[in-house]
Amino acid sequence: MKNTINDYISFISNNKTERECVQAAVKMAEELGYKRLEDTTALKAGDKVYSTVYDKSIILFIVGDEDISKGMNILGAHIDSPRLDLKMKPLYESNGIVYMNTHYYGGIKKYQWVVHPLAMHGVVFKKDGSRIDLKLGEEEDDFTFAISDILPHIAQEQMKKTAGEFIAGEDLDLVMGLNTTEDKDAGKKAILDILEKKYEIKEEDFLSAEIEIVPAGRAKMLGLKNDMVIGYGQDDRVCSFTSLTALLETEHVNRTACCILTDKEEVGSTGATGMNSLMLENVVAELVERLGQYSGLKVKRCLQNSYMLSSDVNSALDPLNMDLYDAENSSRLGSGVVFNKYTGSRGKAGASDANPEFIAKLRKCMDEANVKFQMAEMAKVDIGGGGTIAKFAAFYGMQVIDAGVAVLSMHAPFEITSTYDIESAKSCYKAFLKME
Ligand code: MN
Ligand code: MN
Repeated sequence: MKNTINDYISFISNNKTERECVQAAVKMAEELGYKRLEDTTALKAGDKVYSTVYDKSIILFIVGDEDISKGMNILGAHIDSPRLDLKMKPLYESNGIVYMNTHYYGGIKKYQWVVHPLAMHGVVFKKDGSRIDLKLGEEEDDFTFAISDILPHIAQEQMKKTAGEFIAGEDLDLVMGLNTTEDKDAGKKAILDILEKKYEIKEEDFLSAEIEIVPAGRAKMLGLKNDMVIGYGQDDRVCSFTSLTALLETEHVNRTACCILTDKEEVGSTGATGMNSLMLENVVAELVERLGQYSGLKVKRCLQNSYMLSSDVNSALDPLNMDLYDAENSSRLGSGVVFNKYTGSRGKAGASDANPEFIAKLRKCMDEANVKFQMAEMAKVDIGGGGTIAKFAAFYGMQVIDAGVAVLSMHAPFEITSTYDIESAKSCYKAFLKME
C-alpha cells in the first residue's frame, strides 16, 4: 500500500500538465512492453498498445481474447486540472514591477491563487518547429513565482466585495521581477534578456507556447496518521494514476481493456484532445483495422457494447459545511471508491444517468473482488453541479458510470484525498477491467 501512495505522490508532484502526464504514461507503458499503435501492422490477443493525441491525451489497450465487436472495458480519466495559462503576449511592466499576464483555465476560486508559490510548466514551439520544455519555479533552493494581494490595512473596500469579485481574473498576474532603474521598460527588457540567454525564448515565441501556471512544490501526506494526501491536480490525476496503474498491472483479459487519459475535461471536453471529439472512435478504428477484417460496423459495435468507468473524482462530504450535503447520499473521505450515478445540475440537467442494470453488474463485480464502495452524488439538490466525460462516452451507446476518489477542497491549489480511497479506486479499476 505504501508503494502505491508514494508512487502516486511522486506522479502528481512531477506531472502537473497534460503533456507531462502523457509523457510519464508513455514511459511507464513502454517499460512494460506497450507499443505505439501507429508502429504496428497486425495485432492479436494479448498485445499491448497505446496511441497519443497531440501529446495531450493518451489511449492504451490490452487486446482481449474475445472479438473486439463484443466491446471493451474502459477506464476514462482526465489529466487536465484547473490552473492559470499564460496569455499569448504575457509580459508587461508597471511601475517598477514586471508581470506575466494569465487567463485562468477551468473552475477556480480566484482568491485561492494569490500569495503562495507558483511554478511555470509548459512548452514553447519555435518557427523552425523546435520545442523548448519549461519547468520553472519547482526547485527547493531556487526561485519561484507568485501573485500578490493587497495588505489588510488598506483592504476595506476589497473586503466588502464578494469572494467571486475581490480578486479579478484579469489581475491574476505573475510577479516576474523588478525594475530598479529610471529607464521605463528596463525591467521587462532584463526579463526578456534572461529568457533569451537561459532558455532561448524570444518575446514573440510566446505566441506559439502553451505555458501553465500551477502551484509549486511537491504533494505530501496529510495528518498525523498519514492517512491523507494533499497536493495539486488530484482532480483528476488521482483517478488517472490509479486507472493507468490498474491497466499496467493487468496481464491477460477476455474483453479488450482500455484506459483513456484525456485532456480538456475541465473546460467541457471540447477541442481535438477532449472527449467530446472523435478521438476515441478514431483510435478504436485504427485498433480494429489492425485486428483484421475492418468494418465501420465493427467499430460501432465495439463502442456500443463497451462498459466504462468514467474515473473522475467526487466531492467529499465536508463536516465544516454540512448544510451543503445530504449526508446519506454523499461520499466520505476514507470510505472507499465512489460511484456517482448521475452528475449534472438542477433537475440532473446535462447528466449521463447510469442504467441500474449496469450498476447491478458492478455491485456484483465489486462484492466479488471485495472492494468497498460508496454510492453518492455531489451535494444537496440545487446546490450546484458539474459534469464529467461520462456523457461523451454514453454518446456511443456504451454503459457508463462515474467512479472515483472523494476529494476535499476540490479545484483548490491543494486538494485532499484519502490513502484508503486511492487504494480502493485502484482495486475497483482492476476488478472492473476483468468484468465480463
Ligand atoms: Mn474531474
Ligand atoms: Mn474538475
